[in-house]
Amino acid sequence: MALSKTYRGRLAPSPTGHLHLGHARTFWLAAERARAVGGTLLLRNDDLDAIRFRLDFVAAMLEELRWLGFTWEEPIIAQSQRLPLYRAALARLHAAGAIFPCTRTRRDVLDAIGAPHEGGDNDEPIYPPQFRPALDAPLPPLTDTLAVNWRFRVPDGETLTFQDQALGPQTATAGRDFGDFLVWRKDGVPSYQLACTVDDADLRITEVVRGADLVKSTFRQLLLFRALGAPAPEFYHAPLMLDDAGVRLAKRHDALSLRALREQGVTPAQIIETFRHAPA
Ligand code: GLU
Repeated sequence: MALSKTYRGRLAPSPTGHLHLGHARTFWLAAERARAVGGTLLLRNDDLDAIRFRLDFVAAMLEELRWLGFTWEEPIIAQSQRLPLYRAALARLHAAGAIFPCTRTRRDVLDAIGAPHEGGDNDEPIYPPQFRPALDAPLPPLTDTLAVNWRFRVPDGETLTFQDQALGPQTATAGRDFGDFLVWRKDGVPSYQLACTVDDADLRITEVVRGADLVKSTFRQLLLFRALGAPAPEFYHAPLMLDDAGVRLAKRHDALSLRALREQGVTPAQIIETFRHAPA
């Protein structure tokens, strides 16, 4: 990594549960990479998920991050305050004919592909191509309420690549490894993919450090950066932490939540020390 004062990274926690050791390690890596080059670190609160979002989780999340010793440039960026920016990006994608409205349910999609889907939170089953409107079908206008699901039409068969700063070269083919993905949800909010891309572009993030579960999302986001005419940042996907049984840590691993560790008397210094020795 080149030494640079212009490095801009971000921590982007979702306030949907208590943070666990895996999140903390990814954030620590992000903070270390920014610190090593004298760069800037922002904190983005990914609080668009109205169903799981809880105010007390926001407070707990910030408190836990501060307890661990993280610092960031103020002000904190809250996605829920940035809807006009996401709407403008949606309008741009619409004007470019890059998206289409989708009335299919998740059930329709799963029935059509005839297979159970085991992706993570931010992953989606491959959208059946037969559900797409024809390329030359006129696009309905964006309504004021935006109470429609909109999907990005991926360039079928195009192979995308990027050089991951942690994992090395990454490759995926649109339409085969991932399909047309949601950019806007009919409950009036952007998808994670759109909000994240718009923010990383708008905040001029130079390197995204996040968990390796999001590698596939990165390909979707690369398509969005391109469609929005914004340069893509570098990516560093941190290998996921596993529990003793080899299962990926998740918010349900309460015993490894920062709150539980703290209650047991574990100190921030002890936690950070384990990160220094864990393979990254
Ligand atoms: N809030 C997202 C998550 O926790 C952020 C992912 C990202 O860093 O892009 O999964």
